[in-house]
Amino acid sequence: MSLLITGSIGLDSVKTPLAEHHDLLGGSASYAAIAASFFTPVNLVGIVGDDFPKPYLDLYRKHGINLAGLEIAAGQTFRWSGEYEWNMNNRRTLSIALNVFEKFNPTLPAQYRNAPFVFLANISPQLQMHVLSQVEKPKFVVADTMDLWLEIAREALLELLKRIDCLILNESEARELMKEASLIKAGRGILKLGPKYVCIKKGEHGCLLFGEDLFFSAPAYPLEDIHDPTGAGDCFAGAFAGYLAKTGKVDPTTLRNAVIYGSVVASYNVEAFSLGRLQTLTPADIENRYQFFRKISHFELGGA
Ligand code: AMP
Repeated sequence: MSLLITGSIGLDSVKTPLAEHHDLLGGSASYAAIAASFFTPVNLVGIVGDDFPKPYLDLYRKHGINLAGLEIAAGQTFRWSGEYEWNMNNRRTLSIALNVFEKFNPTLPAQYRNAPFVFLANISPQLQMHVLSQVEKPKFVVADTMDLWLEIAREALLELLKRIDCLILNESEARELMKEASLIKAGRGILKLGPKYVCIKKGEHGCLLFGEDLFFSAPAYPLEDIHDPTGAGDCFAGAFAGYLAKTGKVDPTTLRNAVIYGSVVASYNVEAFSLGRLQTLTPADIENRYQFFRKISHFELGGA
């Protein structure tokens, strides 16, 4: 089944202690759409300026991403720049320019309106709601968010939570949203705000999936090569939603597998800047790491 994805599409400048690159393809929807495309057809909703490089449009097309909902407006593309410390969990946003996003008010193409699966990648909750309200009867809606919206758009985010099936957020955002130190209590508390499932990402410590009928603690891939963590969360969520759309199911076993596929794609993405690693990724690579996850998290009852 197809997956509708909306979110930011941007040009990123990223600095790590080892390297620095400018005008990279970025944005939450770019990462999510390419990650999801390994599993299912993607219908993208977003906006770029007339300065957006054609090779980036070609990359979406190479991944079979439907661009009928991509607006190319006069003006500059959204831009973001950030800097990482040696501890790459610590990132500082250096600058952000909304540019054409300031006037983004999308009307969904008719062919997108009956989307069964929807992923609202990180962008303002008002825009996420605007897109969602145009989808007729979605079967399953996944949303991502970030600390900024907890600070400046809390009410809109709380409204959105009542309309979605699964929220994905990181551990500090979960604590901040619920004003709660315990992640377990925070996860259970978020369920009471509306979504049936909550996935709390813990970076290199894996993630937790909560639902009324399930609790799943997934490990992270033991990565040796981290070049650029930008977009790891977006790739996780895109692959998670993409896998659900591929199977067309949302039962606990499928959700657990979706978490692992999300972790697999995210782990590859950080091995190169921007979407570099995903450009050479193959289904066999995904399957290899999926089996590796199975091996490292399996144990037998008993022992000496
Ligand atoms: P992540 O590393 O998963 O947090 O995602 C990083 C991506 O989010 C970058 O490619 C940025 O272009 C994009 N981004 C950063 N800030 C925002 C924002 N306020 N709204 C939407 N996207 C953003």
